[in-house]
Amino acid sequence: MSLKSKLSHKSTRFTESVIRGMTQLCLQHNAINLSQGTPAYQPPPEVKAAAIEAIQEGYNQYSITWGAPEFREAIAHKMTTFNGIQTDAVKNVTVTCGSTEGMLSALLAIINPGDEVIIFEPFYENYGPDTIISGAKPKYVALQETPTKDQGTTLTYDPDELNSAFSPNTKAIILNTPNNPLGKVFTQNEIQHIADLCCEYDSIAVTDEIYEHMIYDGKPHISIGCLPQMKERTITVSGLSKTYSMTGWRLGYVVAPETLTNAIRKMHDFLTVGAPHPLQRAGVVALNLPQSYYQDLIEKYDKNRKLLVDTLTKAGFRCDPPEGAYYIMTDISEFGFPDDTTFAHWLVKEIGVGGVPGSSFYSNTNLGKTKFRFMFSMADDILLEAGERLMKIKSKI
Ligand code: PLP
Repeated sequence: MSLKSKLSHKSTRFTESVIRGMTQLCLQHNAINLSQGTPAYQPPPEVKAAAIEAIQEGYNQYSITWGAPEFREAIAHKMTTFNGIQTDAVKNVTVTCGSTEGMLSALLAIINPGDEVIIFEPFYENYGPDTIISGAKPKYVALQETPTKDQGTTLTYDPDELNSAFSPNTKAIILNTPNNPLGKVFTQNEIQHIADLCCEYDSIAVTDEIYEHMIYDGKPHISIGCLPQMKERTITVSGLSKTYSMTGWRLGYVVAPETLTNAIRKMHDFLTVGAPHPLQRAGVVALNLPQSYYQDLIEKYDKNRKLLVDTLTKAGFRCDPPEGAYYIMTDISEFGFPDDTTFAHWLVKEIGVGGVPGSSFYSNTNLGKTKFRFMFSMADDILLEAGERLMKIKSKI
């Protein structure tokens, strides 16, 4: 009997994560891993202490499936004050096992087979499997360098392409701002345009804002859900993984209008029951950290951003400083490799540095063949060491 014939069609339509595969390769070759977006830092000590205390105090059983009340209160407060979305902890918040589960629960709650979902590409690799698992039909719209009137360039989409991607079958658009892998921060005009299209076609914006606290050069973070006309048609997904350097805690959340929240809570309940209860208690302490925490975070990341852009440019990569998040997408044409995957393997084995082949962020993998992503959430000395190694590329080709 062939067990392969027993597999679901869905399970065969996507591969294992390329990013996690690169991490394995780095471990095998003892390379510096600038591929997976795992923060190099630790959660603040008072947050760690609160988690230990919660376990000692006995918060070791399930909480309410959609989230511990005090954690949902803290999330609702943050959403109302930081994101500008009036949020009720009882009606609008679902705590999930990371924003990864939040995104999938959200899509499972709204997608019927064949519903179209618009995705900007390059995109965070999970959105591909998310659409397959939920049964959505993805439609991709490119984000690319576009000339501006003043002879410069800006990273945006073609408004006509987005207009024609929308149709009466568009159930939702997935927005990710700041975006992974490009670091693009969507502007007020772009968000307004997307909102207008959502209203015109009666579609929902599902927005992943996990990097909302990592934006450089004073650019604002705009949540599409704060636009009055989007209040009833936005699902905001976010989490604590990146902002508080706690990807292993699996704390995420989804904020949505009550009717959608009720459906999302059902999906969440039967997928995971709930996020870790004692960690939700500590999540309250994280969400109540003072403003200075976020300023320090940006300063720390901004320093790394400048260091890595500088290093990569000197080593022969073409790249611009990202506006947000902690990734740098580079162009590797200069090095003359046949494709990004060959380059990725060569870089790990010969240079001792890992990154992510650009093709894993595109539906049409050819578009990413000359692209390569690095992440910069790394201790200074390791980034410097990576820089020294990358400088040897040209002499080794
Ligand atoms: N969304 C984006 C855009 C990401 O880049 C990542 C992690 O890299 C996630 C979500 C995953 O977040 P979480 O740990 O909350 O599941």
